[in-house]
Parts: sequence; C-alpha cells; structure tokens
Amino acid sequence: MSTHFCLRADSLRVCTPFTILLSALALAWSPRLWSQNLGTTPTWAEAVAAYQSLRDRFPDQTHLREFGTSDVGRPLHVFSMGAEEDATLTLLVNNAIHPGEPCGVNACLDWATDMLQQGTLPSGVHIAIIPMYNIGGGLRRNCCTRANQNGPESYGFRGNARNLDLNRDFIKCDSRNALAFNALFAELSPDLFVDTHTSNGADYPATLTLIASQPDKLGGVLGPWLENTLLPELYRDMEAQGEAMTPYVHTLGSTPDDGIQDFLETPRYSTGYGALHHTIGFTTEAHMLKPFDDRVNATRLFLDVVLEAGIRHAAALRTLRNEQDALFRSAEHIDVAWTLDTASVDSLQFSGYAARYEWSPLTGKRRLRYDRDSTWTRNIRHLHRYAGTRSASVPPAFIVPQAWRHVLDRLTANGVEMTDVPRDTTLQLDVTHILQHSAGSRPYEGHHYRNIDAVEVRREDVQLFAGDKVISLDQPAARYLMETLSPQAVDAFAAWNFFDSALQQKEYFSAYVFEENAQDMIEEDAQLKREWEALRSQKKQEGSPMGHRAQLDLLYKASPHFEGTSDRYPVYAWPKGQPLPFR
Ligand SMILES: [Zn+2]
Repeated sequence: MSTHFCLRADSLRVCTPFTILLSALALAWSPRLWSQNLGTTPTWAEAVAAYQSLRDRFPDQTHLREFGTSDVGRPLHVFSMGAEEDATLTLLVNNAIHPGEPCGVNACLDWATDMLQQGTLPSGVHIAIIPMYNIGGGLRRNCCTRANQNGPESYGFRGNARNLDLNRDFIKCDSRNALAFNALFAELSPDLFVDTHTSNGADYPATLTLIASQPDKLGGVLGPWLENTLLPELYRDMEAQGEAMTPYVHTLGSTPDDGIQDFLETPRYSTGYGALHHTIGFTTEAHMLKPFDDRVNATRLFLDVVLEAGIRHAAALRTLRNEQDALFRSAEHIDVAWTLDTASVDSLQFSGYAARYEWSPLTGKRRLRYDRDSTWTRNIRHLHRYAGTRSASVPPAFIVPQAWRHVLDRLTANGVEMTDVPRDTTLQLDVTHILQHSAGSRPYEGHHYRNIDAVEVRREDVQLFAGDKVISLDQPAARYLMETLSPQAVDAFAAWNFFDSALQQKEYFSAYVFEENAQDMIEEDAQLKREWEALRSQKKQEGSPMGHRAQLDLLYKASPHFEGTSDRYPVYAWPKGQPLPFR
C-alpha cells in the first residue's frame, strides 16, 4: 500500500491500518478519489484499480484489457469507453510516457469517471485511454526528479526500466512497451491521438501549451486541414472556456520574447509516429510551474475540446484520412526529412512575463528571472514552416530478407502485409549502396544514431531465399514503410543502427598474393586498365598519391574476389514499371 493514502489527508501523519482500509474501500467505491484538489497522482496499481472499478460499475460501456508487457514485467492496460466496432471517431489518449508529468493520468481518470457517471459519453465514439504507459518509470516513485515542477507530491521517473525515453522509442522499439504500442495503434487506427505531458523551459501565463502533428510534415490533405480548420477551432474553444492555450514554447532565443518555432516531432515521437498511420496527434504540455490541479484541469479541458471537435468533424476526418492513405500509396516521391524554413517568419500573439537579468550572488554571473507581476501581450516571431530536405522514391515494393527479423518484427506489429518469396531465386532489383555514413560517438537512447550521407542506386542481381518478404507499397502502412525503410529517412531503421552489420566488409586480400592477379587483370582488360590509371593519376594530381595496397584495392574491388555486399543496403526495391513478382 502506498504512503499516498496518508499524504492526501493533511492532518494525518501516520498511516493506520484503518485509514488504509478506508482508502482501499474508497478506491473501490469511488474512482473520483483521484479527482482534482488533492495534489496527488495515483501509482500505477492505483490507476489500474481505479479503471477496474469503472469497468465493474459500467460493464456495458467500458472495457479494460492488457495489450502487452512493459520492460519492467507488468502488463500494459488500455481502458475503452464506447463501441469499438462501428465507431465514427476513435480517440486514443496516452498518459505517463514521462511518469514525472502525470497531469493526464489524473485528467483521464476524472474525465472518464464523469462521462460515465453523468451519462454524457457521446454515442458512436470510441475513447481508448492508456492509464500509464511507462510503468517502469512509474514504479520509480520519488519526490524530486522533476526539479523545477510544482507538484504533485510524488511521481514516477522519466526513463523506463531500461532508462529509455519512451517518447523517442516509437520506431526503434527497444522497449517492449513501444512494440506493444505499435501493435495497439495499428489495431485501433485512431483518428485523433493525445499524448499528455508537462513542460520544461520558459515561464509565461498560459497553463497549457500544445504540440500538434507538424502540418507541413503531416502533409497531404490532413496537414492543411489540421492547420486551417482543426487547430484554430481548438485554440478558439480553449480560450472560450477561459483556458487560453498557446503553441508549445520552443524558444528561438533564451526567452519567448525573441519568438518561438514549431516543434518537429519526427516519427521517433508519439505524434510523429501517429502521422505515419495518418493519425492527427497532439502533445499537451501543461506548464510545470502552475499548480498541479490547474494543470490537470487544463489537460482535461483539452480532452473535452478535442473530443467535441473530433465529433463535429468525424465524417470529414475519416474522408481526409482515406484520401491521405490513397495519396501516400500512389505517390512517386515522398519527403522523409525536414528542416525549419527560417526564411518564412510569421507572427503570433503571445502573453509572456517580463524577463529580467540580474547578477547572481551565487555564481557572480548574470541570471534570468521572470517577473510574474509584469505581463506583456504582443506579437512575437513564429517560425512554423518546415520544408522537406530529402525525398525518397516510392517503389512498387520493398524486398526484405528474413534475416533482418528485428525489422520484420516491427513491420508485423504495424500491421504490414507481406508476401513470402516462394522459392530460392535471384532477381534483378534496385539496390542502394551506402557511399558515406557517419555515427555519433556518444550513445543516444541506446544507439549511435547514424547519418546516411550519400547513396547510389544500381540495378543488380540479388540472391533471395524462400521466406524472404515482398512488401507492396499499395497498403495502408505505405507511409510507415517509406519512413522506416528508406535509408535516408530521419528515423529510418538504418539511422537507428538496425543495418549496421551490412556496413562491414567481411573478406580481404593479402597484397603479396593478389599482386599477380592484379597484374593479370589489367593485362586482360584494357578498359579496366584505363580506369585504374585514371584514378591513380587523379589522386596524384589531388596531392594524395595512392600507396601500394590502395592501388591493389581498386583492382580487388573490380575482381570477382570482392564480395560486393558490404555497404549494400539490404532492403531492395522492386523496379518501377514492372509487375510485382509472386502474385
Ligand atoms: Zn514529457
């Protein structure tokens, strides 16, 4: 039993068995236990118990099921309200991916409880809530790891049981949590998705800030609709309810005074991942310095507002998602990496606190202080246009050898349809050779993120085996496939080191033995000799004449001794304009 039960009653300093019993009974009778004004947030067990209680009280409208296991060994739960079948709108809410930011845990419990108790659950809607996603982090309960946060009294830790930030794990799926989430997401295919957080960073009056799917990156028909229709309504409705919300304060300078920029949530993040399945996503960021209860209320209000907007636009949203699907299946090229367009500067009306700079008696240096008694409202610079920096050609199909099972496991979780190569065979395919790549020297989220800087595509014979996978791009997961299997995509499996073993040469030569072979080669092949000599003289002119082994290496790589598969990206593209094989 958590000491929580004592902490909630201010006058009680000692946890008696009686108070524990009372608390347990209260939990069973009234899930409103976790409503606002208590300044506390439930543990994982308490949150699950509260949803179990709701399920028991409202068995016809609710469902609680496990959808996988977390890294720490405890099951992941999803609580459903409303009909899963035939829903005109599916909304998925994820909580406590960062368990130190639990506003959404409380908000969802109260939101669900009120809708069920008051009979206000809208019909035709399916609402799915993950009570606590990062269970391992949630079990690392502590008072203080959110150094700058105003409550609650205790909460979980950001890293999961493997010290992973789960909000960077949606593509690589190092955690069991993420792989289970991928499968749940593909199954539910939510129209709207909300991931609840608490902010870090600057101080300003707004309690809630919002990261939406970046509209330019979302692209297609959904991006403009989100930007021009849905987002203005969400900001309008929040303001009308007295809770003016602002875009996430990702400052251009050290304070909001200099302006803010849109956050680019690439597919490693929850909403970026959702965009790969044509789901519009929102990350709510409640402000860390506002009282916990205010943060819970603002997060809950956003859930109301986004649900109402979703219902208003349910039919249009479904149509747009279908159009988005068709667009990405039939595209010739799609963007797979983006950068902020710094030339495109918009303005945004923003309310901030005056920033003061003072001398710190502690460090003797200048420090920043926000003056909460001095509020300003004016237009600040807002940079929110992103431009594609890399585009990838969409092939009719990818061919992925079964050897790359860690990749195939992730595709399977995402509902990707695959056809087996029926027999051992050799096919002419478009093969990507990686000419230049570089990786970070320090680990980032369990990997050494690899930039694939230069590639060349050649049509070559590729040996395939029965059971290797042919993956058509004419399927709902087309965008997911392009942004994970195109090697230069920002969150490609290649960037997350899944194919690093393909980047190593396995066989070499001894120069003293190969010397005679090399001599024979240039005597028998006049063209080869010309190319070899041209390269040698080019290097000499460049001031870096080639040594003995380097000269032989050129000929070795042109010889049948060279393996030819090192630095060859082992995901192949079926050539455009040719009917798919094995159909
Ligand atoms: Zn967070």
